[in-house]
Amino acid sequence: MFYKNLKDITLPTMKGRVAVKLHMGDTGSLKTRLSPEDVSIIVNKLREGGTKPFLFDTTTLYRRARYTEEGYANFAREHGFDGFDVIIGSDNECKDIGGYGVPKALLAADGMLVLSHAKGHSFTGFGGALKNIGMGCVNKEGKRKIHMLSKPVYDESKCRQCGICVDACEDHLIEIRGKKIVIDMKDCSGCGECCKACPTGALFQKEGSVEESFDRFNGAAKAIVSEFMEKGRPVFCVNVLKNITERCDCSENPGRIVCPDIGCVTGENPLKVDLETVELIKKKSPSALDWKTWNLFVKKAENYFG
Ligand code: SF4
Ligand code: SF4
Repeated sequence: MFYKNLKDITLPTMKGRVAVKLHMGDTGSLKTRLSPEDVSIIVNKLREGGTKPFLFDTTTLYRRARYTEEGYANFAREHGFDGFDVIIGSDNECKDIGGYGVPKALLAADGMLVLSHAKGHSFTGFGGALKNIGMGCVNKEGKRKIHMLSKPVYDESKCRQCGICVDACEDHLIEIRGKKIVIDMKDCSGCGECCKACPTGALFQKEGSVEESFDRFNGAAKAIVSEFMEKGRPVFCVNVLKNITERCDCSENPGRIVCPDIGCVTGENPLKVDLETVELIKKKSPSALDWKTWNLFVKKAENYFG
């Protein structure tokens, strides 16, 4: 369902403790992420409906402010979410859901409201509800499992030590040592930015690896949604089409705003909500984001949410 303004949206009946799944941004996206004011509109609606909402997110694979529970909680407090009940999921206190570790703090909720900022994403082309669930609700091990397939492969014989990949990796995982590069694979998210940037083909992703990662990504999202729904706990998605940037809110540089603000899209099925969101963005700004990658992602998502 489309709404012009966030304050006009209608939420389904929810009860008890509701987890508002939210990517709270990073230092580079403080001006373009979903603002605390936007989030409070949703939280207030949930409170008015008689629920006890809390903001929920998981730690990151990359070693920045949100790498640990404590670091993320501090980040939230320091950057506008101090007035909210915030829970950052533990990487250790998890339950296996479909082969992925999901923090018990999330699974203890009586429902989940997936509140997502619509924007570009280096791995999936577009980031909305599916990304917020499939990547955002699993622990570090789960994130590694999804990303491990698409990590870069290095062909030293083609490398001319130009250093372009070093600059392309926002997580600073690549360095030149002598006549070759070294990648810290443990923390690599398999985003592929270094491969796209490499001018010689010395860095590349194995054929089919990105599609397999997308499959895992969507499998995780489906398992988590099913875990809630099968126990009668609602999952509802709200995508906010505002400050639509080239890259994700986790990026040190989310890039340009590529489309005028549009409004919000809501619904139960995260794929349908994302597809409606993408159509609205395309209408306003046809070449705003990497639709080729997104279409590849959608093909896999349809197997789970179609
Ligand atoms: S961008 Fe490619 S060629 Fe340049 S240093 Fe990195 S791997 Fe080597
Ligand atoms: S794929 Fe490349 S750019 Fe992306 S995190 Fe891994 S090393 Fe860095």
